[in-house]
Amino acid sequence: MNYSLIDTHAHLTFDRLYQRVDEIVEHALDAGFNKIVCICTNIEEFDRALIIQKKYPKLLDIALGFHPSDLFDISETDHERLEQACKQHEIVAIGEIGLDYHYEGTDVEMQKELFIRQMKLANTYDYPILIHMRDATKDTLELIEEHCKTKFLMHCFSGSKETAKVVVTMGGYISFAGPLTFKNARGLLEVPAVVPMDKMFIETDCPFLTPHPFRGKENEPMYASYTFAKLVELLGVDAKQLADQMQENYKRFFKL
Ligand SMILES: [Zn+2]
Ligand SMILES: [Zn+2]
Repeated sequence: MNYSLIDTHAHLTFDRLYQRVDEIVEHALDAGFNKIVCICTNIEEFDRALIIQKKYPKLLDIALGFHPSDLFDISETDHERLEQACKQHEIVAIGEIGLDYHYEGTDVEMQKELFIRQMKLANTYDYPILIHMRDATKDTLELIEEHCKTKFLMHCFSGSKETAKVVVTMGGYISFAGPLTFKNARGLLEVPAVVPMDKMFIETDCPFLTPHPFRGKENEPMYASYTFAKLVELLGVDAKQLADQMQENYKRFFKL
């Protein structure tokens, strides 16, 4: 293979993946990956990610941010640690952050507050943000429009072509995950065509959302190559050209 791939969203610190992280890294390297962004949603995960990064400094970059689903578990000490991580440049992005209205029993106002606070932090230290948006398209885009002064990426994009167009118009980036390969992908298949190649990424969001034909198996970074192959097919482009473009995008988007 004459090109390299990047998984921009992997939860390598989740117990099941963390326990076999060396094997997972080996698989990823064999599959041609030269970069994985380890997404940390709390400080415990961040501590683990720093340990993995010590072993694989070239391969691993880290993002840290407080997920809307963990709303009630985040303390002031956690916010201070995130700010320290920004100051010390231990991370390449803040995320995943955003809004998730999928589950009952959440507090929408608290979610918005948490999201805005982290966007302001990103503005202060000039970090790009990685957005988690589930069943909350309108509110999420409105808050980004109002508060985000840095670059943003919609992770695991599963919205419509119309939403993708809005994101692109706002200057946002879009990352595709396993659902693009699913047999029921339907409308999602029309999305890549409206996203410029210089605004495009792939990811696993592992351990979730394993690409076809491995659904049912635990996801890990190497499987993002299947999402990549699907993108190449849909766009009708040369694989090396797209992969090289994503390497460029990586350098431009993340705070390296
Ligand atoms: Zn997410
Ligand atoms: Zn995630």
